[in-house]
Amino acid sequence: MTSFKQLKLIDPLLRAVAQENYQQPTPIQAQSIPLLLAGRDILGCAQTGTGKTAAFALPLLQLLTQSNAAQGKPAIRVLVLSPTRELAAQIEESFGAYARYLKLRHLVIFGGVKQNPQVTALRRGVHILVATPGRLLDLVGQGYIHLGQVQFFVLDEADRMLDMGFIHDIRKVIKLLPEKRQNLLFSATLPPDITRLAGSFLSNPARVEVSPPSSTVDQIEQRVMFVDRRDKPSLLIEQLSQPSMARVLIFTRTKHGANRLVKQLNKARIPAAAIHGNKSQNVRRRALAGFHSGEISILVATDLASRGIDVENISHVFNFDLPHEPEVYIHRIGRTGRAGLSGVAISFCDASETADLRSIERLIGNEIPVYTEHAWHSSDAMTAVSVPAPAGHKPRSRRRSKPGRPPSKARPRPKPTPAPKPGRQAGEPARESRKKPASPRRRRWRRSSGNQRNNQ
Ligand code: AMP
Repeated sequence: MTSFKQLKLIDPLLRAVAQENYQQPTPIQAQSIPLLLAGRDILGCAQTGTGKTAAFALPLLQLLTQSNAAQGKPAIRVLVLSPTRELAAQIEESFGAYARYLKLRHLVIFGGVKQNPQVTALRRGVHILVATPGRLLDLVGQGYIHLGQVQFFVLDEADRMLDMGFIHDIRKVIKLLPEKRQNLLFSATLPPDITRLAGSFLSNPARVEVSPPSSTVDQIEQRVMFVDRRDKPSLLIEQLSQPSMARVLIFTRTKHGANRLVKQLNKARIPAAAIHGNKSQNVRRRALAGFHSGEISILVATDLASRGIDVENISHVFNFDLPHEPEVYIHRIGRTGRAGLSGVAISFCDASETADLRSIERLIGNEIPVYTEHAWHSSDAMTAVSVPAPAGHKPRSRRRSKPGRPPSKARPRPKPTPAPKPGRQAGEPARESRKKPASPRRRRWRRSSGNQRNNQ
């Protein structure tokens, strides 16, 4: 097995990956890093969850450092385009982690938030810019961003970009870049429109491919429980009292949510620890070591803080909150059911999260069996699932829970309910569930309109 050292990474990067607790490169990293260090363009077929961010961030940081001779205000030398603000924020966060021992400035920009703080940061100068296409072009148009010195261009999740209607924006951005540059394109799938796009700007690319982590999903027993938001802690406490809960990882969407949940668990005399970005490195390391040794059997984590949790024998993963990004779900539940062991992933879904649940089911190609036999079952939340499917979404036959499980515990969701009258009443399905499926543009806007940047 290749090590990071064998990949000829420089010392500050080796220290950074060690700090992240990465033991060895993932397959996409082992393939891409040498190619990128050798100056090749790359066409990568890999999903989020495979370690692809480090696969491009580490070599680009190295190349940047080795050619970082210019003095004065930094110019944008690496441009990463990402379809969503969540992914953009995650990528920039990863650059920050990997570049912690380097003197390089990085910034993420996306729409739906005020532009002033972004403009202020741009004025100071950045080396690495991670952006969603709309805000990037906006700020280019206003003269705050110049792309004339970009040496490395990364187009991430290209298939999602095209799905979201970004093709024209991408072409506009490419026209603004200097001719001579190194290009990378990553996509979960490579349909003809992606290969065409790749052909239009990659130069003799090396192709790297890894199988998606979703292949592991089948080994994991998944359940969804519909519950009102306020009842989630009680449901969790009930679930945790079951003897099978040997080593449990619970995901929340925010740092604040993780803290609050740990307090609620502790109050119910359930020992648990939290790890998230606001905890010091020492506290995180202690919590992880405790989880590893079995001293702590319940860990509450946010997605970003959970990177580097490399613990076998996790019996249960709980999605206390569902992630907005469906790939994150696969990544989260992949923490259990490792090394051929069985694992259970339980997701709590309240009425506001049904759209997230549907995206997840679409990605994994299956409906997650529903468990209704618990004291906090919410039919409001379950009914909120029954929204008109977006165009092209074929209803699938209901999948029952795994064989051997009492059938009464897994029930199909109800048939679609008639559209509610205007004006939300108490107990009605959440607003989102009544909306028509959004256009790609509108979806993009919606994705970028809630600020989660600093919540992880
Ligand atoms: P990505 O596919 O880039 O979104 O990465 C998925 C997750 O894998 C992130 O939480 C990374 O921190 C983590 N990761 C990336 N590379 C490694 C590695 N070599 N070893 C362990 N975890 C990794």
